[in-house]
Amino acid sequence: MPTTERTGRLSDLPHDGKFGDFGGRFVAETLMPALEQLALAYRDARQDPEFQAAFDEALSEYGGRPTPLYEAKRLSAEAGGARIFLKREDLVHGGAHKFNNVMGQALLAKRMGKTRLIAETGAGQHGVASAQAAAASGLPLEVYMGAVDVERQRLNVFRMQLLGAKVIPVESGSRTLKDAINEALRDWVTNVRDTYYLIGSVVGPDPYPRIVRDFQRVIGDEIRTQSLAKLDRLPDLLVACVGGGSNAIGTFYPFVEDTEVGLLGIEAGGEGIETGRHAATIGGGHKGILHGALSYLMADPDGQVTETHSVSAGLDYPGVGPEHANLAAVGRARYEAATDAEALDALTRLCRTEGILPALESAHAVAGAMREAKKMDPEDVIVVTLSGRGDKDVHTVAEALGVDL
Ligand SMILES: *Cc1c(COP(=O)(O)O)cnc(C)c1O
Repeated sequence: MPTTERTGRLSDLPHDGKFGDFGGRFVAETLMPALEQLALAYRDARQDPEFQAAFDEALSEYGGRPTPLYEAKRLSAEAGGARIFLKREDLVHGGAHKFNNVMGQALLAKRMGKTRLIAETGAGQHGVASAQAAAASGLPLEVYMGAVDVERQRLNVFRMQLLGAKVIPVESGSRTLKDAINEALRDWVTNVRDTYYLIGSVVGPDPYPRIVRDFQRVIGDEIRTQSLAKLDRLPDLLVACVGGGSNAIGTFYPFVEDTEVGLLGIEAGGEGIETGRHAATIGGGHKGILHGALSYLMADPDGQVTETHSVSAGLDYPGVGPEHANLAAVGRARYEAATDAEALDALTRLCRTEGILPALESAHAVAGAMREAKKMDPEDVIVVTLSGRGDKDVHTVAEALGVDL
């Protein structure tokens, strides 16, 4: 495992692009120079106090950080057992943790002298976050999006356009996320001199998983400071939902060496692991290469990547970041699933007990935390990362609860 000093926010150690057996750069030769250039530029940036200062300022002055660590007393009483605290990433600008990453990468792109950003998006959440960061940093953005997703997610398409981004519908293949990723890679290879490819989670070839993790570790760094200030100790357990894994690794990473702190990632159990209709990549997937890195993925016995299912768009992804694959393999973190039904139940409970409407993704983590709390003592402390707010999900929730709006 790569280690890190506990204070500096961006880690500063040499890296071979591997997390144990996982990660690496499984890409076409034509992409190698672009990845190498990015790795070198990032190494420079993270050693530059001015870059760190610009990132810190963007997070606080524009993003609204630090986010509170809030003790959810009524939710804790309802769960019964440990004290549950919420790390309120739902209060960050844009309504989710995605901001931390897109802002960091937009600043990195500017520092590299790039004049154009590209991104790809499935449901549109990363596209919208990228469009905000692009506008704020004065860089034009083009977002590749499968034509099927463009149809399904008109509201997010319009949001991106309002924010000044250009959305490019992708008509090839199944016209969904994986085709959009292929198009974005093609664009990047062709235009690498002036173009920066802004990836949305701790996935993809090295150096992306460690760049995105470093921009998201502000979540865990703040939890450490706030926990020491409030409780005079570290939490007993950290819980976060895992799609690609960026909010979870941001939460876990600063604590990896504190072995007394438990780490629990909650994947999307969909309709139940046994039904095959889920997105629990670590719990129900196989080792394999997806998007340029070796990790776990959802595949059939022939190795074909399969369709995933989750009530939450942000967890509906067939892969997972390689650093999580390694944390699971070495036994440092546990990964469990919460089903659609469990997430919906947790969402309504958090609404009623605390007046907080979480994103459906985050509701998976809340479900996991409530399950764990029951097994723990009243003095034990759980911190659950509330990755985003749920306003975007009200239509989905209404439909799932059988309410006709
Ligand atoms: C995108 C998203 C996720 C999933 O992404 P990770 O990279 O796994 O963090 C989780 N929660 C919210 C609110 C999201 O928008």
